[in-house]
Amino acid sequence: MPYIHKLYEVDYKNWTIKRKNKTCPRCGSFMAFHKKPVPRWHCGKCNYVEYVKQLF
Ligand SMILES: [Zn+2]
Repeated sequence: MPYIHKLYEVDYKNWTIKRKNKTCPRCGSFMAFHKKPVPRWHCGKCNYVEYVKQLF
């Protein structure tokens, strides 16, 4: 199963995510950002998920 990192530049109305290469605190791999259903970072290696705090 090929895994493609999607490096989004998120630009919502009141907040932005500038870091495109966030690393997983658990295994150190690069994490992918997903906008839906909720904004979150997801590690494709160990399935660690970090939810993004919405600032509005
Ligand atoms: Zn990980």
